[in-house]
Amino acid sequence: MPRLKGKYPKLYQMPSFNNGQLVFLQSNHSLTFINGYYRCSLRQKGKCNVADELSFKYPVFERRLSRAIQSLKLDEEIGRNIFYEWDRQAIDLRKQIEKDADCIMQDMEATILVMKQEIKKTKKISMRNTKEARERYGKLVKITFPSLMHGFLSDLLKGLTAIGKTRIGDGLFVSAGFEKVYLSKEGKILKVKLQGMNDYLFQYVERKKPDFLKNLPFEIIEKIHFPSLNLLDAMNFFRNNNYKNVLSYSPFTSECVFQKQLKKQTDSIKQLPPLEQIKMWETLKDITWQSPHVFFSGLAIPYDENSSM
Ligand SMILES: [Zn+2]
Repeated sequence: MPRLKGKYPKLYQMPSFNNGQLVFLQSNHSLTFINGYYRCSLRQKGKCNVADELSFKYPVFERRLSRAIQSLKLDEEIGRNIFYEWDRQAIDLRKQIEKDADCIMQDMEATILVMKQEIKKTKKISMRNTKEARERYGKLVKITFPSLMHGFLSDLLKGLTAIGKTRIGDGLFVSAGFEKVYLSKEGKILKVKLQGMNDYLFQYVERKKPDFLKNLPFEIIEKIHFPSLNLLDAMNFFRNNNYKNVLSYSPFTSECVFQKQLKKQTDSIKQLPPLEQIKMWETLKDITWQSPHVFFSGLAIPYDENSSM
């Protein structure tokens, strides 16, 4: 990477961490990114009572972080083997998703049929049927989510084999794979809590490369106990736990956040004329299996040239 003098271009000014992801271990104060510095969020408000918590200049801090995670770099050949294994295991995952999604799509079809009859009779759609459609759609999203997780896991694996190549890449890997990073007052990384996805990835890698986590300069806390490391089994484990801990900063953080996102989409559908609402539910029924990320992007209204919207 070329050495940058003076002002950093925009891309280099993007911090890798969400607010709250970095935490001072001793005080449990989270850090926030302001004006090119990570600093205690309470200090920012003049409410921090710890005198010696330092602020860390970007990108110096992230460069230090890159150095700290070098020991995680995974040999490309091992990475490739894991890719192939997961792809093979993903066949069973796909079969399961197809089977389960098919049932729910039929349920949604039944709800949509009832809605159509309702429109004929009353010219509107009752809240009860909208709620049923919403619940069934929510189930469909949850059933199809593991196919996204498989893609995300593959990205994390790529990130792991690419550690040390670029600072931005390292930052991306850490921010996507680490839920919390606990720092000393001087900014040394002491402990990390992994996102559930990354926890699974690390445990899988460790099975292939037994000394993988041995020489880390920091401690990994709250490791998940997976009953099996097979991809399908692990995805089912996450699913049975309602995807808790899979990915923070996503609609799956908690059931409450998930329901809020679901309600937001349903509310925007409710504003459409009844026949357009039907079209939307039909679209969501068909598109969710095809593109599970539709739910996460918040997209509820597809472009339709015949529509007046
Ligand atoms: Zn503080």
